[in-house]
Amino acid sequence: MYLKSLTLKGFKSFAAPTTLRFEPGICCVVGPNGSGKSNVVDALTWVMGEHSAKSLRGGKMQDVIFAGTAGKSPLGRAEVTLTLDNSDGTLPIDYAEVSLTRRMFRDGAAEYEINGDRARLMDVQELLSDSGIGREMHVIVGQGKLAEILESKPEERRAFIEEAAGILKHRRRKEKAQRK
Ligand code: ATP
Ligand code: MG
Repeated sequence: MYLKSLTLKGFKSFAAPTTLRFEPGICCVVGPNGSGKSNVVDALTWVMGEHSAKSLRGGKMQDVIFAGTAGKSPLGRAEVTLTLDNSDGTLPIDYAEVSLTRRMFRDGAAEYEINGDRARLMDVQELLSDSGIGREMHVIVGQGKLAEILESKPEERRAFIEEAAGILKHRRRKEKAQRK
């Protein structure tokens, strides 16, 4: 499995629809300070279900929506689509290519899609949970994150390990069942 493309529409500084295409192997995103490199990484975590505005470097979740610049008015929604190559079947879904979309409106309404079909956040989390990527992902190690992992409480560190081992999905299901 590898990341094929990422499309941003109205996400942070990306007002006009912008598609980034990636190849297998190492990819680099380069650009001057403030050009949006970190916003691309934010888009990647956001589309996979990130729910902490703080880890997206904003105050509230709606801060991911393009806020306008001197020449451009603000937009009403942010949308990100991630396309993954799944020809090796890493993701438990019968498609060689999997696209995930997350959309958010100014009133806070949110939508998720898996291959164009409406989905719940939980579906997205389940789909990604055994793949090594996803919300509590340890594959995107941001600045300061390494220290956070090293300094985390034992139970937090356990969650990282459980996700890596593919156990977290079952724990979530168990907790959900117990709440009923
Ligand atoms: P550096 O090299 O300094 O790390 P960078 O390329 O990572 O820079 P980003 O942090 O991705 O840059 O982008 C910062 C820019 O994104 C700022 O100019 C900021 O104003 C803009 N930005 C962030 N959120 C929004 C938003 N909601 N609407 C419009 N612009 C935004
Ligand atoms: Mg940056």
